[in-house]
Formats: sequence, structure tokens, C-alpha cells
Amino acid sequence: MSLNGTYDPDNIFAKILRGDIPNATVFENDHILSFMDAFPQSKGHTLVIPKTPSRNLFDTDPGVLVKLISKTQIIANAVRQTFNPDGITITQFNGAPAGQTVFHLHFHIIPRYKDMALGSHAGGQMADFEDLKEQAAKIRHNLP
Ligand code: 5GP
Repeated sequence: MSLNGTYDPDNIFAKILRGDIPNATVFENDHILSFMDAFPQSKGHTLVIPKTPSRNLFDTDPGVLVKLISKTQIIANAVRQTFNPDGITITQFNGAPAGQTVFHLHFHIIPRYKDMALGSHAGGQMADFEDLKEQAAKIRHNLP
């Protein structure tokens, strides 16, 4: 999928937003949903998405982006307190050639641990849902 195109209301994150697919929720308000990545690249890999439908950074209202990035900072800080990683990578991909696989805008919060290789992007093993729910609860506990 290129940068241009129409929003597919049946993409995986749209289904998660509708409640058609379960998720391990970290945070939710009227504008934002945050949940654990089902194929984590490291322990604590968390996603933050706007509820407003958009494919990528370019077709998103700037007001939505402001809410999204400020909430991403808050959630990343809770991830940091929860897992005490040595670093945190925050990524956001636009278009399939850039690595995007789900075409609903999202930020990745990926904790990094010294001497631990990063798992593959969107191609690793599916995590145990109960583990993810436990991790989400721990992160939630550290949210302001
Ligand atoms: P992208 O490649 O678009 O930047 O990231 C999409 C992310 O969504 C990937 O990290 C992938 O592991 C994650 N993902 C794919 N399917 C699901 C799913 O059904 N549930 C959750 N929680 N994450 C998913």
C-alpha cells in the first residue's frame, strides 16, 4: 500500500476499535486507545492509536496528532517505570515500503534491553494473551 489511498474500515485496528477483536488495553479515552502489540518485538511493546480513522501521519488532523503524541509520551513513561528498560524506541511507519503493515495510524513504544536483540517487526511469535493483559495492567498502574 502506498502513502495515498482510502482508509480501510476493516483493517485490524479498526476491528479492535469496534471491539470485534480483543485487545490487552493499557489506556482508553474518547480520542485514544493504547494496547499491547500481539507480536511484541520486546517485552512491553505497546501501541498507541487515535480513534479517528486515518491511514498514516499525512492524512491525520494535526489536532489529533497533538493528542496522540502527548499521550504517547505519558504511556511511554509508564512503560519505562513498569519494565525499567535501558532505552525505548518509538516508531511510526508510513506506507508499506516504510514498513507499515496495519493501515491505521499508530505509534509503537518498544522497550530496549541491553544485550537483547529486537524481535522481528510484525512477523514474530504471537504473545500469550493472558501475559499481555498482565503487562497492560502493570503499565496502567503506573499511569498518572
Ligand atoms: P506496523 O507494521 O503497521 O507499523 O505495525 C502494526 C503492528 O500491529 C505490528 O507491530 C503487529 O505486531 C501488530 N499487530 C498485528 N495484528 C495485531 C493484532 O491483531 N492485535 C494487536 N494487538 N497487534 C497486532
